[in-house]
Amino acid sequence: MQATAPLLLLLPLLLSALPAPSHGWGVDGHLMVCQIAQARALPLTNLSLGRLSDAAAAAVKDLLPSYAGGNLSSLCSWADDVKFRYHWSSALHYIDTPDSLCSYSYDRDCKDEEGVMGRCVAGAINNYTSQLLSYGKSASPEYNLTQALLFLSHFIGDIHQPLHVGFTSDRGGNTIDVHWYRRKTVLHHVWDASIIQTADDDFYGDDVSGFIDTLTKNITGEWSEQVSSWEQCGKNQTACPDIYATESITAACNWAYKGVQEDSTLQDAYFSSRLPVVNLRLAQGGVRLAATLNRIFG
Ligand SMILES: [Zn+2]
Repeated sequence: MQATAPLLLLLPLLLSALPAPSHGWGVDGHLMVCQIAQARALPLTNLSLGRLSDAAAAAVKDLLPSYAGGNLSSLCSWADDVKFRYHWSSALHYIDTPDSLCSYSYDRDCKDEEGVMGRCVAGAINNYTSQLLSYGKSASPEYNLTQALLFLSHFIGDIHQPLHVGFTSDRGGNTIDVHWYRRKTVLHHVWDASIIQTADDDFYGDDVSGFIDTLTKNITGEWSEQVSSWEQCGKNQTACPDIYATESITAACNWAYKGVQEDSTLQDAYFSSRLPVVNLRLAQGGVRLAATLNRIFG
């Protein structure tokens, strides 16, 4: 997907610290994905939390603006913050698939509302991956690789949110009004933020780092045998967004949309049965972001 590349060249590097409107995983979800990806081995412990190779960790540090203090997760919602300023980027956060088909195909579905091919979250992941592959190859880079890193890190999170690969007519659950317990919202927002927020409040005393610790422990424990299959990508492929998109639309049908109608009230039964799906998708997003950065930077 090269459609956005020339535009990027024209855009100044404007890194915003404005609070994000919630699109894609909310701020917490993106923070979790990026912290899982960037977790470093803790000195003086035998916890092997580090997921990034030394080369990838160094490249990430080099590309981050200095005010990020080397912390990728502090800028993982940047792509949401600039969605309105970089209006062309708003179509890059999701994929609309045909209603009720519960399947995804790049050639059929990866386009924006005007039908421009490649303008979807899978195309954006491919595009920013190929831009980042030019890192270190030229003294005057053709692309803004800081923006490429921030977009890629955000979009690998988004593509794991099941309703970011949802049905066209309800805009991934954005037009389905529901109640989350007693609060009025839309189904899309339940998956972006409400499930995570409720888990955070109920189990972690509103401290997202406790939530991240739990996911990290599961990655090295309960899920450890699956992790290498999560990391896999096709032969000679650097990024594998089509695999993640197919998983997301399947989860959207099996879990997100299932049993939900306009004005449904979603509470304990929905929360407790869907939280494991959210946990898995956040963990997979983090593991795969690290694996993709490792393939890019070596
Ligand atoms: Zn997003």
